Amino acid sequence: MLDFLGDLKRTHMCGVLRAADAGKRAVLMGWVNRRRDHGNLLFIDLRDRTGVTQVVFNTDRDRVVHAKAETLRNEYVIAAIGTVKLRDANTINPNMPTGEVELAADELRILNESKLPPFLPSDTALTNEETRLKYRYIDLRRDVMQFNIETRHKVAKAIRDYLSAQGFFEIETPFMTRSTPEGARDYLVPSRVQPGTFYALPQSPQMFKQILMISGFDKYFQIVRCFRDEDLRADRQPEFTQIDLEMTYPQPESVWAVVEGFLTAAFAAAGYEIKTPFPRMDYDEAIRLYGIDKPDLRLPPFTDVRECFSAENLQELAINPNLPVIAIRIPKVGELSRKERDDIKPLFHSKGGARVYEDFKRIANKYPAAAEAISKKAGAEPGDLIVLVAGSTEKSSAQSGPQSAVSPHRKVTPQELAIYNSAGLLRLALAQKYAERHQCFQRGDFRFLWVTNFPMFEWDEHEKQWMAAHHPFTSPHEQDMKLLEEGVEALHDPLSPLGAVRALAYDVVLNGTELGSGSIRIHRQDVQRRIFRALGMSEEEAKARFGFFLEALEYGTPPHGGIALGLDRIVMILAGAESLREVIPFPKTARAVDLMVDAPTPVSEAQLRELGVAVKK
Ligand code: ASP
Repeated sequence: MLDFLGDLKRTHMCGVLRAADAGKRAVLMGWVNRRRDHGNLLFIDLRDRTGVTQVVFNTDRDRVVHAKAETLRNEYVIAAIGTVKLRDANTINPNMPTGEVELAADELRILNESKLPPFLPSDTALTNEETRLKYRYIDLRRDVMQFNIETRHKVAKAIRDYLSAQGFFEIETPFMTRSTPEGARDYLVPSRVQPGTFYALPQSPQMFKQILMISGFDKYFQIVRCFRDEDLRADRQPEFTQIDLEMTYPQPESVWAVVEGFLTAAFAAAGYEIKTPFPRMDYDEAIRLYGIDKPDLRLPPFTDVRECFSAENLQELAINPNLPVIAIRIPKVGELSRKERDDIKPLFHSKGGARVYEDFKRIANKYPAAAEAISKKAGAEPGDLIVLVAGSTEKSSAQSGPQSAVSPHRKVTPQELAIYNSAGLLRLALAQKYAERHQCFQRGDFRFLWVTNFPMFEWDEHEKQWMAAHHPFTSPHEQDMKLLEEGVEALHDPLSPLGAVRALAYDVVLNGTELGSGSIRIHRQDVQRRIFRALGMSEEEAKARFGFFLEALEYGTPPHGGIALGLDRIVMILAGAESLREVIPFPKTARAVDLMVDAPTPVSEAQLRELGVAVKK
């Protein structure tokens, strides 16, 4: 028989009672986390969001209440009423914040029963993720999940408070809207009242936030859901949350200062202190030093060790003397086993035949003088791993393929880029596989970085045209406008000056992960039109897709810019979680399925008919 709550009021949460509360009357309510039956003594660990308190039912005190307590099972919901008592010295539990006290219960109300759950919140071993996601409400009761979701709340609140104090308004933008290009497919919503037409769920509020700047709101932010239908990679969510902001008349540095400010607040909310301002690095520099546009600064940069070899050495090794010879150094990893060496080979060779991978050990045996010079130049210490990546003297398709123009501004040639990229990938694989295992990375070691001056366009070999590297509303560098003008004349040419146009775009990177990206925007419609043209969009097409936006740009648009950062990822890092699904209350699987509600599902014929939608079998 279940009891009614009646007019009973909770006096304390389950995690708050301390020795100083001894003697007080208390009413606790929560879930039965664990029960231990010692004959005439029955112990219940009672749990809520704040923690656990031991409740004790004693036959000597009250036989009826004790008998009732014996019917309790895991996850029953109860109210326990009694007196707070100090525990005997030998039963104090120093691992529990409430471990010095217990509640000696003289009344029990069973507010609800529970079926035996497929797993228990108190289980130490985790059940498989599918079961966890199907019974998410049980999974979320686990203290790790409670901590993760609390961290999420605290982080979001710190960001809201910070940005509000800086004069930003939080403004909502529509979910049922038109396509905003961010490089993914749209989720579409059919309209019933206008059959055959569709809303798109926003991939980001990009155009709306720019329009808010045109509307005079000066500083906008939103902690906002975005929707992207991507081929799902391991840790992606079709809907995810961004900290999105936009401001008028900014220099890139003004945006960076705002981001550094709210990240400081967010990290402080989770108990971490970070240093600002973050270092900055040019895109070209990042490629040259790390082979990637999101360098992990916890590991040393590349060293070009070409000059450590004699001309004969290079010839014998079939290394191209005109290209960099990159030494990758991973500290404190020690020798690779034969198997580990074999593991990295396919990874490397799959990146095209123009590069060679050289095991340092082999070099050291055959060319001791060169090896010594390399160790010295790379700053190697005993126990460090060095791997070399270089260009091959053999011709290969990778070298003869189309190459983009090299601007006077760009310091890296396409052939060099190929070497740097390979070395960057190899460095990442090595770091992940070995450095973590050997504890080169320490928790709480946060290395932030701004990467700036990205290329404006990327050549798409498949489509044979230029694509926006960021999104098409990003402003080119003012100094590169001439290149843009010239480039528009050579749209389908991989050697077009378009390849040399730099964007006023920036990414904020943390330990090798991109946390967010943004840019100064185009505020002039003539420049915006030219960019659409460079992207191969006709005047009509641009009008059809973005007419409203091009029109808005014609009514006094102030210079503006902004950024968006992934909230889920930030929380994941701060909570020390392994996947985004651990910090999103109701996430989807890698196949974009919600296992708890079982979505997506087919819908009825009638519903489809009403929408004017037919499903092809
Ligand atoms: N809308 C961009 C994105 O979602 C961010 C920005 O440029 O502000 O990546």
